[in-house]
Amino acid sequence: MTKIVIIGGGIVGAMIAYELSTSAHLDITLIEQHQSASGSTGAALGVLMGAISQKVKGRAWKLRENSLKRYETLISELESLTGQTIPYNRQGIVMLGLTQDDLDKWQTLVKIRHTQGWHLELWTTEELLKHCPQVQNDQILGALYSKSDRQVHPTLLTQALITGASIKGVNCIFGQKVQNFTIKPLNNDNNSHCSQIQTDRGIFDADWVIVSGGIDSKLLTTSLAQTVDIQPVLGQAIHLKLPQTMGNVAFQPVMTGDDVHIVPLGSGEYWIGATVEFSDEANANLLEWVKEQAIAFCPELKKGEIIKTWSGKRPRPVGQAAPVIKPLDFYDNVLLATGHYRNGVLLAPATAQIIKEMIGAI
Ligand SMILES: Cc1cc2nc3c(=O)[nH]c(=O)nc-3n(C[C@H](O)[C@H](O)[C@H](O)COP(=O)(O)OP(=O)(O)OC[C@H]3O[C@@H](n4cnc5c(N)ncnc54)[C@H](O)[C@@H]3O)c2cc1C
Repeated sequence: MTKIVIIGGGIVGAMIAYELSTSAHLDITLIEQHQSASGSTGAALGVLMGAISQKVKGRAWKLRENSLKRYETLISELESLTGQTIPYNRQGIVMLGLTQDDLDKWQTLVKIRHTQGWHLELWTTEELLKHCPQVQNDQILGALYSKSDRQVHPTLLTQALITGASIKGVNCIFGQKVQNFTIKPLNNDNNSHCSQIQTDRGIFDADWVIVSGGIDSKLLTTSLAQTVDIQPVLGQAIHLKLPQTMGNVAFQPVMTGDDVHIVPLGSGEYWIGATVEFSDEANANLLEWVKEQAIAFCPELKKGEIIKTWSGKRPRPVGQAAPVIKPLDFYDNVLLATGHYRNGVLLAPATAQIIKEMIGAI
């Protein structure tokens, strides 16, 4: 049996554990210092902007396309395996257009996606109002609708992935922090081999080590003497409750405009977010701006009672493109699956597929 140790029980580590668990010859351990989804994942809104994103070619589009396709089978597969419910909004994403430039870019995007086999619709303001009467804003010039994009509850998905992985034999360990590694030089070249993972409570042998520690991947790779720079980028969001659901109850897509997401949760509840802050301290004014912007799109949100506000830190790689999915330099058995920045929930399935290929488990 090949021993795999995955560090981190966020969406990325949990997705890798679950996707690898289908390979019978692997002995898999996932180690999380706290509980599942306790890092960036626990703060995420779970908006999966694939077809509606401006990424149209190369790795960035491939990752999105592969993830969207996997999500369509994954959720029902996990729900039937675990008996857990995973809130998954299949009604698509509506992007609000505020400038003529937006509308011009979308014309091109619709054509490109069509050739790629994905369907986007351009809506006039009249069509937008017909579908989403809650949107009341004179500045909106039109909208782009992607019925194949999705939104998922990140924490509940991560928990279901962990349950599913455990059912399939993965050893999921919580409350243990990876502190160090046993590193052996290889004779024939400059490479090293990581043979053991040391936690505050024990030692685990490893043939492969997967670093999916979110912002702490920087510390982990520093312990391996190959620092990968990951910058924390703070994000804040709000949970609002209205007396009733806005607009057409039967059609509740995610709405997004000016980088502000309005995520319907059912029963008049919404997540609104998220700020993008390059500082350690959450700025209350920025959260207020996000709320005001959402209210400017859907004035009914003004009546919302704030259930809670929260913040989290996104793992943004410095000096290289997000995400970082590749072998760690100068090691023959350490793989990085980190630095997903603003799209970790979206890109987790495609990340797991790549890791699976890298360890030859396909
Ligand atoms: C406000 C906000 C909104 C967001 N919205 C979206 C969205 O709509 N869509 C989207 O796709 N993405 C979104 N994101 C981004 C997304 O949350 C991240 O990209 C994603 O969660 C990264 O997942 P991860 O598993 O790599 O990291 P994390 O979730 O941070 O998981 C890493 C885990 O590793 C553990 N760990 C670290 N070091 C050790 C160690 N030494 N030993 C053991 N365990 C360790 C940590 O405890 C942590 O649980 C959002 C983020 C924020 C903050």
